[in-house]
Amino acid sequence: MTDCNCIFCKIAAGEIPSRTIRETEEFRVVLDVAPATKGHALILPKNHYRNLLDLPQEMAQKAMVLAKETALSMKESLGCDGINLVQNNEEAAGQTVFHFHLHVIPRYEKDEQKIVWTPREFSREEMDEIADKLKR
Ligand code: AMP
Ligand code: ZN
Repeated sequence: MTDCNCIFCKIAAGEIPSRTIRETEEFRVVLDVAPATKGHALILPKNHYRNLLDLPQEMAQKAMVLAKETALSMKESLGCDGINLVQNNEEAAGQTVFHFHLHVIPRYEKDEQKIVWTPREFSREEMDEIADKLKR
C-alpha cells in the first residue's frame, strides 16, 4: 500500500537514500533533511497513510513506542536536554508532506528553537460547549 508519487513512500522503502537510524518491518526512522536541531528525526510507516486521521490504531500505537525508543536513544547518544514530539495533520495544521510522519525533535538548552502558539481566550460557556461536543 504505497503511493508511487509520494517521496516518503520512496524513502521508507529505501528507494531514495536517507540517513536511517532505526528500521522495523513496518517503519523506517530517518533524520529530517532540514533539521530543527541536531538529531531531528522522522518516524515513517512503510505503508502510505495520509496522516493521523487515516493511520490504523495499531500503527499509531507502534509509532508512539518507536518515538519513545528514539527519544531515549537521543538522550543517551546526543545528550539532549529535552524532546518534542510534533505531528502535523492537513495543511491547516502545517502538514507539508502528506504521508504520516511523527517528528522527534531533541532539544538543547539554548538551542534557540521555539515550538509555540499564542494562547486564546474562550468564555466559560464556549469552553463548556466545546467540552460537551468532544466528550465521549
Ligand atoms: P511537515 O511540515 O510536518 O509535513 O514536515 C515535513 C518534514 O519533512 C519537514 O521537516 C522537512 O524538512 C522534511 N523532509 C522533506 N523532504 C525530506 C526528505 N527528502 N528527507 C527527509 N526529510 C524530509
Ligand atoms: Zn507515502
